[in-house]
Amino acid sequence: FADKDGVIWFDGELVPWREAKTHVLTHTLHYGMGVFEGVRAYSTGHGPAIFRLKEHTERLFRSAHILGMKMQYSKEELLEAQKLVVRENGLESAYLRPMSFLGSEGMGLRAEGLKVHTIVAAWDWPSYMSPEALEQGIRIRTSSYTRHHVNITMCKAKANGNYMNSMLALREALDSGCEEALLLDNEGYVAEGSGENIFIVKDDGILYTPELTSCLEGITRDTIIRFAQHLGLEVREKRITRDEVYVAEEAFFTGTAAEVLPIREHDGRVIGSGRRGPVTEKLQKMYFDQVTGKSELFPEWLDYVKSV
Ligand code: PMP
Repeated sequence: FADKDGVIWFDGELVPWREAKTHVLTHTLHYGMGVFEGVRAYSTGHGPAIFRLKEHTERLFRSAHILGMKMQYSKEELLEAQKLVVRENGLESAYLRPMSFLGSEGMGLRAEGLKVHTIVAAWDWPSYMSPEALEQGIRIRTSSYTRHHVNITMCKAKANGNYMNSMLALREALDSGCEEALLLDNEGYVAEGSGENIFIVKDDGILYTPELTSCLEGITRDTIIRFAQHLGLEVREKRITRDEVYVAEEAFFTGTAAEVLPIREHDGRVIGSGRRGPVTEKLQKMYFDQVTGKSELFPEWLDYVKSV
């Protein structure tokens, strides 16, 4: 992935893709203390637009604040940097990866005298799952790995080190023939997927999603809640058990990479009709219309890369 044309924003400068390097003693590489975002830009009638750029950038700064990392750039600078990398790489649609990490200025857990470096990369990454998955839904399994406990790592931070848990869970799910994992919290209640929040539909069309305790404050999750409110659908944030998912009318994941992804089977139990349900389909369509600029509902959520 390092051998590619293009440019990466690295500490305020645009650097050729192949030269955007860091030393092997980079602190974050050793201990995982770093923060990042996953952001998407979609092709619209007015050129590429980044979806909810402000909210993603704010979460990046909140993550850094939680870990006590002092950002060297302002939010405005990073908003501009993200638009710049999409523009400079000539991307029509893109996945963006801003990341802030501790440099190689020193070693050890005291982490003193280290600089916080920031990069923003962007590349063409059309779909996380297959088009069939978005239509037919995926099969998931409950993970044998527990999601982070709120006092072991910081769940509100989108922190590099947190993703070891996600990768273990996803690998286990893939190896058992499923497409994604569902992680439970330390008390056994549903938390989230390896990189997605979860919603279930039950009681004749009411949406349920876990409270923001041990799951990430997903921006797609928030988007879906706003859509549901617009449609007059009730949304309840509460503790959910795995068997509530088994008997749900519908279930779906949300995330910047996964978008709005139906779940058709959980632990070998068919959910609802075993296909994308009507509520999921409606919200998924609203999502794609919104991100591609076909909907007038929340125009403030689109940041056009080229001025319109
Ligand atoms: N949970 C986890 C663990 C994630 O990594 C992500 C992806 N950032 C999400 C949920 C969904 O968040 P968002 O909708 O902001 O992409």
